[in-house]
Amino acid sequence: MKNLTEAQITKRPGIFADTYGGQYIPETLMTELEKVDKAFHTLKDDPDFQAELHDLLINYANRPSLLYYAKNMTEDLGGAKIYLKREDLNHTGAHKINNVIGQALLAKHLGKKRLIAETGAGQHGVATATIAALFGMDCEIFMGKEDTDRQKLNVYRMELLGAKVHPVTTGSMVLKDAINATLQEWASRSEDTFYVMGSAVGPYPFPEMVKYFQSVISKESKQQLKAKENTLPDMVVACVGGGSNAIGSFADYIDDPSVKLVGVEAAGKGVNSDQTAATIERGSVGIFHGMKSLFLQNEDGQINPVYSISAGLDYPGVGPEHAALAKEGRAQYVGITDDEAVQAFEYIARQEGIVAAIESCHAVAYVEKIAPTMSKDQIIVCTLSGRGDKDVASIAKYKGVDIDE
Ligand SMILES: *Cc1c(COP(=O)(O)O)cnc(C)c1O
Repeated sequence: MKNLTEAQITKRPGIFADTYGGQYIPETLMTELEKVDKAFHTLKDDPDFQAELHDLLINYANRPSLLYYAKNMTEDLGGAKIYLKREDLNHTGAHKINNVIGQALLAKHLGKKRLIAETGAGQHGVATATIAALFGMDCEIFMGKEDTDRQKLNVYRMELLGAKVHPVTTGSMVLKDAINATLQEWASRSEDTFYVMGSAVGPYPFPEMVKYFQSVISKESKQQLKAKENTLPDMVVACVGGGSNAIGSFADYIDDPSVKLVGVEAAGKGVNSDQTAATIERGSVGIFHGMKSLFLQNEDGQINPVYSISAGLDYPGVGPEHAALAKEGRAQYVGITDDEAVQAFEYIARQEGIVAAIESCHAVAYVEKIAPTMSKDQIIVCTLSGRGDKDVASIAKYKGVDIDE
C-alpha cells in the first residue's frame, strides 16, 4: 500500500478518509471476499433480489419501523422535538435483523448452505439463527466461553432455533476472540459457508454491506419525518458498538450538511477510566479483525479488555467509516457512562412507557443532555436500536434489587 499515490488509495474500494478500512486478512480468504464483493454489487442492483429483500423486511421483520414522536420527553426536557426511530419493534427486537436478512439472502444467492457468525451477548447469534431457521440453512455460532456462561438464555435460544453454539476458549474468551474464531472457521471452510458479520466492521466489503443493509433505518426516517414535519432533522443520535445501527441511522443524511450526526459510545465507568469501551475517544489506529481502524490497545498493539454495562457495546474497535467520519469531523462521538445509561433506562420507561435496550439508552441519555440546549423548533431523531426486556434482570441487580432469573 505504501507505494500507491494518494489518488490511488482514495479510489480503492473500502478505504475511508484515505486511512481506515481495507482488507487485512489471510490470503485464503481473499478469493472468497472477492466473490462476496462481486455478488453484493451485482445483486444490490438486481430487481429480483430487491423484491425478495423488501418482501422479507416488510412481511418478516415488520418494517417500516415507526418514527414515534416522544411528546412526554419533549415537553419534560423543554427543548428540541424528539422523535424515536423504533428498531426495537422489529422481529427479534433489534436492528440486527435488517443486516442478517440481507447477508443471508446474499449467501443463498451464492449457493451457500451454512451460515456462521460470532456473537457477544448473543443478539447477533440469535438473529442469525433466526434467519437460518427461516431459510432452512445450517447455522453455527461462535461465542466466547465467558459469554456463554453469562448469557445462558441466549445460548438456549440459539439452540432452540436449531443452531450449534461453539464456546470459544482462546484469548480472554469474549467477543473479540469469537470474531477471530469465526474468521478462522471461514478460512478453513468457505465452499458451502458464509460468514454473517454482525456489525459494520471487518474486512471490505463487510463495512459497506452492513451499512447498505442497515441504511433502511435512515431512508425510512427521512421519509417519515418529511411526511410529519416536512423537514430534515437537525440532529440524528444513535449508540455505537461496532457501529451498525449508527451507520444505518446516519447513511441517508451524510450528504445533508445541516444534519448533525452524533454517535454515542459506552464510556463504562468513565471515558478516562480503564473500564471503558469509548473506542473513538480513547483508541488509537491499529489493524485487527481484518480492518484498519481505531482500537483500545496498549503501546505494543495488544487489544485491551473493554468494559460497559451493555454487552452489545463492549467491542474494543469501531467500524472504519465511523473512524473516518470522526477524523473528517462529519460526525461527533460522545461517551455516556453506565450510571447515565441506567438513569435513561428508567427515564424513558417512565416518560414514554418504553423499555429500551441498555445499548439504546446510551443514545437516550445523550438526548436528555442535548435536547434542553436546543430550541423548540429544532428536531432530534434518536434511534432505539433494540428493546430492553433482555436487560431488566441485570439493571435490577445494578440497582441492588435481586430478582430471580
Ligand atoms: C448489537 C447491538 C448494538 C450494538 O451494535 P452496533 O453494530 O453498534 O449497532 C446496539 N443496540 C442493540 C440493541 C444491539 O443488539
